[in-house]
Amino acid sequence: MEDDVIIGLEIHCQLNKLNSKLFCGCSTKHHGSEPNTHTCPVCLGLPGALPVINKKAVEYAIMVGLALNCGIAEHTQFYRKNYYYPDLPRGFQITQYDYPIAENGMMTVDVDSIERPVRIKRVHMEEDPGRLVHQGSIETSKYVLVDYNRSGMPLIEVVTEPDLRSPKEARRFINKLRNILEYLDVFDGSLEGALRVDANVSLKGGARVEIKNISSYKGVERALLFEISRQRNMKRRGVTVTQETRHYDDERNCTITLRSKEQAEEYRYFPEADLVPLSVKDWENKLKARLPELPEAKRDRFRSQYGISDNHAKVLTAEIRLANYYECVAGKCDPVMAATWVADYLKGELNYRDRDVRDAFEPEKMIFIIDQLKKAIITDKGAVEVIRVLLDEGGEPASIIKSRNLAKVESDITRKAVTEVISENASAVQDLRSGKPQAMNFLVGMVMKKTRGRADPEEVNLLLRELLECTL
Ligand SMILES: [Zn+2]
Repeated sequence: MEDDVIIGLEIHCQLNKLNSKLFCGCSTKHHGSEPNTHTCPVCLGLPGALPVINKKAVEYAIMVGLALNCGIAEHTQFYRKNYYYPDLPRGFQITQYDYPIAENGMMTVDVDSIERPVRIKRVHMEEDPGRLVHQGSIETSKYVLVDYNRSGMPLIEVVTEPDLRSPKEARRFINKLRNILEYLDVFDGSLEGALRVDANVSLKGGARVEIKNISSYKGVERALLFEISRQRNMKRRGVTVTQETRHYDDERNCTITLRSKEQAEEYRYFPEADLVPLSVKDWENKLKARLPELPEAKRDRFRSQYGISDNHAKVLTAEIRLANYYECVAGKCDPVMAATWVADYLKGELNYRDRDVRDAFEPEKMIFIIDQLKKAIITDKGAVEVIRVLLDEGGEPASIIKSRNLAKVESDITRKAVTEVISENASAVQDLRSGKPQAMNFLVGMVMKKTRGRADPEEVNLLLRELLECTL
């Protein structure tokens, strides 16, 4: 946390789990399609085409408002935000201005175990404009192409108060918001363009700079880090930071001026006369009843129902898919062991491969692995090996254990290895007897090496103590 840093976020999230766009019947499943194949007169903004509100989109937006502890509006209304830009052929965007669907919410964000509240100013609905495709970079591109497949995609915009104090907090906030939206099943954050962020950043007493359209999760933190150090350097040199809008260049990791304050656009907002104001207050209770269990409630339940640690409960509930995976496994074997194997080992191996739990193997395979561990057929090391092979090559755990010889060696083989190690490492044995406990680790390590990791380290430890005390 940096005391003089002030960050506010405007986060645009596509409600991409809906089947149709915000004001027309076009499909939202345009990802990967040819440009301009998911369009109609309404989302192309042709003269005379009339918008019809997608009721489900309004319901989703109310659910998001409720999940963010907002108050839901009595009446909500759409406005025309007038500006001309090639991604918006009719010259205005349909959005909300006064009377947004939800206001005055709160979400906590925790960094280094310090949990702080971040106020949510408002949640409103709007349509996505089309997508501009620059050839090369935005500065040097000689021409630009427009794809209207995205035009009219339903968006919600979550606006925070300037309560964030560091780029890391901003990243955490966005991750948590993504998780909540995925819990609500209104959003798939892995799709291209699903989430875009505008960030306002200033140093205490200085002018506010807006960074527009950051479109990657990691980009938000990097853009803010760059911008804060730029403003700090200016301050140090006695140069005044001017209020302006900047663009974040992901490839070069810097921000560049788009327009200064003098050029700032004045949007003229008019009520959208083609859409009547909606009275949504009576939807609130119905939707409240439909809200799923959210991350914090799930975390508390996991702790009490399965008796797992706070930290495991936190890791497991941070993503709905991981939470579901864990529940599948925990229902059929020791839930505490399941927490360790899913939260620490499986998640760790997935992170290492830059993959998520959707790319993992079926929970049944994890249940089998834990069962083999519990029956002492494989060691922890063997189980990790099975997980790695399953992730990299696939297959069945039983045949992996067999083909890779991962089953634990018999006790008499372990005993033989221990005896050999004792006679081959006289000086380490001597060290141990003269009270150097680290010599034990060395001896256990030698036995593990001799048995190619298939001995149970705990058993080796006991045997070493037993045999060495016998020979004392
Ligand atoms: Zn359409």
